[in-house]
Amino acid sequence: MTDIIKLLPDHVANQIAAGEVVQRPASVVKELMENAIDAGATTVKLIVKDGGKALIQVVDDGMGMSETDARLSFERHATSKISSAQDLFNLHTKGFRGEALASIAAIAHVDMQTRTETNEVGVHIKIEGSKIVSQEVVATPQGTSISVKNLFFNIPARRNFLKSNQVELRHITDEFHRVALVHPNIEFHFYNNGSEIFNLPKGKPRQRIAHIFGSRMENRLVPVSEETEVVKISGFICKPEFAKKSRGEQFFFANDRFIKSPYLHHAVVAAFEGLIKPDTYPGYFIYLEVDPSSIDINIHPTKTEVKFDDENTLYAILRSTIKHSLGQFNVAPVLDFDHNPNLDTPYAYKEKGAILPKVTVDATFNPFQERERKSGGGFQRTSSKGWENLYEGLDQEVDTDNFSSVAIESDSDAQGTLYDDGVGEHMATTFQLRRKFVVSTVKSGMLVIHQNRAHERILFEKFLGEITVKEGVSQQLLFPLELTFNPQELGILREIKDSLTNIGFAFESLEEETVKLTGVPLMVPESGIGTVLDRLIADYAEGFNEGTVSQAEVLAKVLSKNLAVKTGELLDQESQLALVNNLFACKEPTLSPFQKLTYTIISEGDIDKKFS
Ligand code: ADP
Ligand code: MG
Repeated sequence: MTDIIKLLPDHVANQIAAGEVVQRPASVVKELMENAIDAGATTVKLIVKDGGKALIQVVDDGMGMSETDARLSFERHATSKISSAQDLFNLHTKGFRGEALASIAAIAHVDMQTRTETNEVGVHIKIEGSKIVSQEVVATPQGTSISVKNLFFNIPARRNFLKSNQVELRHITDEFHRVALVHPNIEFHFYNNGSEIFNLPKGKPRQRIAHIFGSRMENRLVPVSEETEVVKISGFICKPEFAKKSRGEQFFFANDRFIKSPYLHHAVVAAFEGLIKPDTYPGYFIYLEVDPSSIDINIHPTKTEVKFDDENTLYAILRSTIKHSLGQFNVAPVLDFDHNPNLDTPYAYKEKGAILPKVTVDATFNPFQERERKSGGGFQRTSSKGWENLYEGLDQEVDTDNFSSVAIESDSDAQGTLYDDGVGEHMATTFQLRRKFVVSTVKSGMLVIHQNRAHERILFEKFLGEITVKEGVSQQLLFPLELTFNPQELGILREIKDSLTNIGFAFESLEEETVKLTGVPLMVPESGIGTVLDRLIADYAEGFNEGTVSQAEVLAKVLSKNLAVKTGELLDQESQLALVNNLFACKEPTLSPFQKLTYTIISEGDIDKKFS
């Protein structure tokens, strides 16, 4: 038998490597920006078109390359950054593999212009699918400009796998943030489809964060700082009251590299324990400096996971540093509300039986206040006073004896078959069990409704209807509400603007960082609009990443999740009844929008068995 093993030609090897290094346009952005920084640039420009599918260009004013280096830079394992294995343990650059340019050139059309300080003229090289198609002398400023066009032109499967321009742009923006946050002393510009979406002048880390995430961020930040033998920690945490429902403003950097670390994240969250609600995440920007030899970043070219030598110690130090900052800067419970009972009792107590009222933004709105229903199964919000009164004297257990029986008017078929109208029992009673379930009787036995899930279902169908038939009812605001968003959030807002308008939001302008709202849906409390929109934007972005295709559905899910009555909220008699009625008026009453059971029926037989 003849020998069959062959060495792969370089362009094939490069294409295979590219599959690892370049997963999407954002990967190219990351590699090019890191190269610019390694080259000592003081100003870096990122230019993107159509989510990076049409163009990604990075222009820097760094050291540039000689003609030979420029050609060599596209070879695999060609790097100026390390020369021996030993160097791997003392890395001070972002790149070291020498794979990025070779990989990118294998799967795209690349155009590079570069000049060093000492050379009078620069070099202009064009490469398509690893082949140099032209090389010329060119007059160009010192530094390097690399444009990448037609990404994945020779791998259609990859190209088709790319998401919408907006989603790709979001990934690019994430990478841009990660790089820009580590280098506040470098000026960055980011142009998308011809307009500048970020202009980040040199400044202090705090200013950089504010430039990226909006000026409102500035006074939310609390500095963190600690220096030990193992690690030097610096950066900021966000005050607990600004903890968000979404992940997103959580950043760890180790030796100037963005890293992900669920373990260290846990350390931060642990430090916030008792100060934030259980399903929210604190924002943080934490920079760790460790001995380069104690950290292994060599796991995978695109992975952000790292391995620290002594993770446990790091965890402990980080946690206590943050606790210290929270204490030192007196970030004690100061909330918008006069008094937030959530902060009085550590959350762990919740499990021990005392049911904590949840005063979230939703608290001021009572979707069940008025029984007369609006079109599409919606509720009309009237005064929020009664709802707030519910929170008086919350330490006492609910006094179920006081609940009076209220008749259920069976006005739909669903209810007709459901409710017991046989044995002279035209009166049905509902009561709330542990502020979690609403219990009632039906023909076959006992109906137990999960209040949160049921309300999610009701709201989901309502919003889905409104988005598609545009019938949402808006309440005009007497004084327009001004809210600030960062550019990325603004992008999402613009994306979903039409749907939001359909359900009753009215925006005056969506061009600037500050957005003017002139109207909001009837059922969203004015005081909580900012929070609702924040969550909406974050959840919306996540919803799409999870692969839901219809915008209307994502939005309806997000809204229902955020506005539904929560477990732990007290419902008055009317609200309980409305919940029952409206649930069974739904098209799909059995499941929440998140595919969880909304109610169950415990039959008479089941109960009989208990007594046998
Ligand atoms: P790595 O960054 O891992 O060394 P790359 O493939 O990203 O590998 O780059 C290869 C080499 O090309 C780098 O080591 C560097 O010498 C050179 N290079 C790449 N981009 C630039 C740039 N913007 N300015 C100067 N030199 C660059
Ligand atoms: Mg590199």
